[in-house]
Amino acid sequence: MEQRKTVLITGASRGIGSEIARRFALAGYQVALNYNTSERRARELAELLERQLGVAAGERILPVRADVSDRRQVERMFDEAEARFGGIDVLVNNAGIAQQKLFTDLTDEDWRRMFAVHVDGAFYCSRRALQGMIRRHSGKIINVSSMWGQIGGSCEVHYSAAKAAVIGMTRALAKEVGPSGIQVNCVAPGVIDTEMNGALSEETLEQLCEETPLGMLGTCRDIAEAVLFLADSRSDFITGQVLGVNGGMVIG
Ligand code: NAP
Repeated sequence: MEQRKTVLITGASRGIGSEIARRFALAGYQVALNYNTSERRARELAELLERQLGVAAGERILPVRADVSDRRQVERMFDEAEARFGGIDVLVNNAGIAQQKLFTDLTDEDWRRMFAVHVDGAFYCSRRALQGMIRRHSGKIINVSSMWGQIGGSCEVHYSAAKAAVIGMTRALAKEVGPSGIQVNCVAPGVIDTEMNGALSEETLEQLCEETPLGMLGTCRDIAEAVLFLADSRSDFITGQVLGVNGGMVIG
């Protein structure tokens, strides 16, 4: 019997990450489901998926707590996931935070936290995951960036800069670890209907919809499907790419 693959998804307690976890679980993966503050939601999601799959608690889904901006917590999370499932075949760096603020109002702490979660987080998780991937000469890393990292968003300079850094990391790392049989790609979502956009007014959301050629907001499912594609063998010859899932907002 073929060994089940294992995915570790950061920020899987809510929004896009929870849908990625659901999609991978239904596709047959063992899922290490990372959360930071939303423990109850992560555990409820794990229980729901286990019921849907008809498996015992902990058999296929493992909720694991870690603040991805903390290297030690990241290392403990990987140790725990590997002890349960063996090596990590697919890493999805999805955890993220958002903040709308004028550039001139940003504090040092705002700036550092944005980079700590998005850039340090992807760095710590990827470096740790690569230990096993390089040894096995196989693995996939999928980063979740944003269209704002491609084109820049007003009042989100720190977010846009951090997401652009994630794109740079994707491209460079793909070149470095390609000879080790590992693919590194990136999904750049447009506006997706999640709590992250809860601070945006109805009016702003409507305007963003109108500016989107396809005339709608994206769903978590749109992103989860793209991530699943980049994780499986159909995309084995794709690396270092940024896949825009944005309804046509950013082309090229
Ligand atoms: P969301 O609904 O706000 O969920 C964010 C997730 O990230 C939560 O599971 C949260 O975990 C986790 N997280 C935040 N800080 C963390 C940390 N330090 N360590 C570990 N986990 C952490 O956001 P979303 O809309 O699903 O966004 C997911 C990703 O897509 C983010 O990278 C975001 O930048 C990107 N994105 C979103 C949109 C959009 O329109 N929604 C567009 C482009 C890109 P806890 O709740 O457990 O703390």
